[in-house]
Amino acid sequence: MASSSRPARRTVKRPGFDLLNVPVLGRFLRWKHARSAMQIPLFLIAVLMIWDGLTGNQLAPRNTATVLAWVHYRGFVVLALLIAGNMFCMACPFMLPRNALRRFITPTRRWPKVLRNKWLAAALLAAFFFAYELFDLWASPWWTAWIILGYFGLALLIDSVFMGASFCKYVCPLGQFNMVGSLISPLEVKVREPQRCATCHTKDCIKGNEFQHGCELWLFQERKVGNLDCTFCLDCVHACPHDNVGIRLHPVGRDLAADERRSGIGVLAQRPDVSVLLLVLTFGALLNAFGMVSPVYAFEQWLAETLGLNSQAAILGLIFGLGLVLEPLVLIGGAAWLSRWLTRQSTSLWELINRYTLGLAPLGFAVWLAHYLFHFLTGFWTFGPALQIALHDLGLPAAWLQGSGTGSLLNPALIEPLQLLLISLGAGVSLWACWRTSQRIAPKRALEALVPWAAVILVMTYAAFWLMQQPMEMRGTMTLLGG
Ligand code: SF4
Ligand code: SF4
Repeated sequence: MASSSRPARRTVKRPGFDLLNVPVLGRFLRWKHARSAMQIPLFLIAVLMIWDGLTGNQLAPRNTATVLAWVHYRGFVVLALLIAGNMFCMACPFMLPRNALRRFITPTRRWPKVLRNKWLAAALLAAFFFAYELFDLWASPWWTAWIILGYFGLALLIDSVFMGASFCKYVCPLGQFNMVGSLISPLEVKVREPQRCATCHTKDCIKGNEFQHGCELWLFQERKVGNLDCTFCLDCVHACPHDNVGIRLHPVGRDLAADERRSGIGVLAQRPDVSVLLLVLTFGALLNAFGMVSPVYAFEQWLAETLGLNSQAAILGLIFGLGLVLEPLVLIGGAAWLSRWLTRQSTSLWELINRYTLGLAPLGFAVWLAHYLFHFLTGFWTFGPALQIALHDLGLPAAWLQGSGTGSLLNPALIEPLQLLLISLGAGVSLWACWRTSQRIAPKRALEALVPWAAVILVMTYAAFWLMQQPMEMRGTMTLLGG
């Protein structure tokens, strides 16, 4: 008969850093309700943003919906990914009502087989980037509030019908960004003692038990590789009866060249959907940064006059076609073809693309990081006036925010060098990952295999450098916000 109380667990301490062994913080994270404790404050902030966005001051720098979503949230997310791991998914507020609903509703349907991939997520991400530019989302508290509401609604709807974490794994564009970004994170949810898993008969980390469900993203700890698809929800940590799962330090980018089967994901060399998602994020980083610099307006004007276009959607559609379709097609397709020709191999072009695009992810993330950090550092103090107005509207004390900071969080003269440094580091990790892939694909001609990909990295790095050095268009806002 199953015992009704949770069995005592021996604490496994392996050499090497493990966040779960850090005093106080580790104890907190092991607490069964730690995730809810992190979600509740973010949920309350989201409710404030929705209310303020729908009913408050519609000037973007004076509304918490726009300020907190487009300056602070994005800045904190990329910093957390760089320093630790997928911390936003860990504390995701969209999962709070979903988890509450799951106490009453147990979904029985499986996510449709035809959608068990990243095609939908990649399309949603591209659509989001397009809508962001077309509707100037950064400047609209009203639209921002509706996006947050839409997120809550969609997560609730999907996860009340379909089993597991279908929304996180197959739909959520934010989650995809975080999961791809966490490829360069230093921390990984990981088994402590592989030998213990080998003798474990229950496999609770994936199957769950009477106290805790297993991994809802179908990542089996014993065969999990890297951070892809991991939301850092820590369900596996709570489920494992042997206390054999930790949040462990791992060499940054180590799994970028790994070609083994990954639990819950499969072999990446056979996943063109994952490659397309990676390419949307990598080239989307350049495109999104291009949207914030002044030359984009001159280019749009030129396109409109040359082609006789007078629809903003058509002009943007053309720019997106160039940046998200033609550019990757030429650069990535060309590099794969050239790499195969130089190494005289018969590997399919798709397999080469699938294996090398993983290596480009650090450069793409570095461009996002440089871009978002710019807004975060220069616009950090915008939360003061926006929060003050929101609290005042709510009839709550707001005087304590009077005169809350101004100016940039970092000396503005240091921001551009910092951006260039981050992009250079991202390019360096990408080059290293592509080199490792080349060694695996063509051990005797690794250098020839690498050359076309190194050229792609060089071109993209140059483009990112150029973008970061352009004057930023203020897009009609009073303070530094947008992009
Ligand atoms: S992580 Fe824990 S539950 Fe999963 S296989 Fe290893 S020992 Fe078993
Ligand atoms: S492996 Fe699964 S259960 Fe464990 S933290 Fe990642 S997503 Fe959550």
